[in-house]
Amino acid sequence: MELLLEGKAVSENLKKDFEKRIEKLKQEKNIIPYIAVLGMQGDEASLTYIKRIEKNCSKYGIKFLLKLSTNEEEFIKNFNEVNSNPKITGIMFQQPLPTHLSELINQIPAEKDIEGISDLSMGKLFAGKKDVNIPCTSKAVIETLDFYNIDLTGKNVVVLGRSNIVGKPLIPQLLNKNATVTICHSKTKNIEEILRQADVIIMAIGQAKFLKKEMIKQGAILIDVGINFENGKMVGDIDFEDVKEKAYAITPVPGGIGVVTNTLLIDNIINSIK
Ligand code: NDP
Repeated sequence: MELLLEGKAVSENLKKDFEKRIEKLKQEKNIIPYIAVLGMQGDEASLTYIKRIEKNCSKYGIKFLLKLSTNEEEFIKNFNEVNSNPKITGIMFQQPLPTHLSELINQIPAEKDIEGISDLSMGKLFAGKKDVNIPCTSKAVIETLDFYNIDLTGKNVVVLGRSNIVGKPLIPQLLNKNATVTICHSKTKNIEEILRQADVIIMAIGQAKFLKKEMIKQGAILIDVGINFENGKMVGDIDFEDVKEKAYAITPVPGGIGVVTNTLLIDNIINSIK
């Protein structure tokens, strides 16, 4: 491996002007960014994630409201309350939620959809519109490649995973970079053959250390979105030790895409204020 694609440097670069942009909103529009997170009580794992977001927000003076409900009725009441509060500039849902509750995101104005997951946000992204929040994890992949000056023009990029937050939103973003894009999923046949043709591989399947050296070509660029736990240790979808001699560049886990994702949420929170 010649290049370790560390997330910290990408994140520091993105953070540079956050304070200035927030101050400008205060001075020129008298607006303080204010986000509301809605979820259900009892999901400890995602609560840890939410607490990290809260800490990140407080660093920049972004106001934060967490509303956890005990039942669906209360969730809908909380949703209506935050959706009608003009001071709240962004809303996000703590997943997983039942589909009919997740669908409520389609009732908020697109600019308040800071995760970019509503039907309108997704449609705008595919239509090539600029005024749209992009799902942070997918954008983190692009920001990382950009930061390390990896040009995707004409490259064969293979993405493993087709979720609404990673694989799908990566399609228009990779096409914008003039890549030739292949998306694989659990029903794809001959995955290993497809992977061996790839100049760039983006792993987002949630299977610990799935990608091995015999599945990649010499000099491949590897992006690891996966977060898995093995004996209490965080590992990605790539077997880092196994592939590191054969790959040209790899994002580490931890310390790669995850770090950039958290920063891009703050970027979306600031950007979404019009
Ligand atoms: P999902 O579970 O929503 O999607 C997983 C995708 O992987 C599905 O499309 C599934 O296919 C596909 N898949 C699963 N197993 C295989 C396989 N063996 N071969 C090929 N495709 C497979 O996951 P997410 O997109 O939400 O997350 C993916 C990973 O990224 C997870 O590890 C998650 O923790 C991590 N993550 C990391 C973030 C970060 O900031 N770094 C943020 C968000 C997620 P099918 O559609 O056919 O079922």
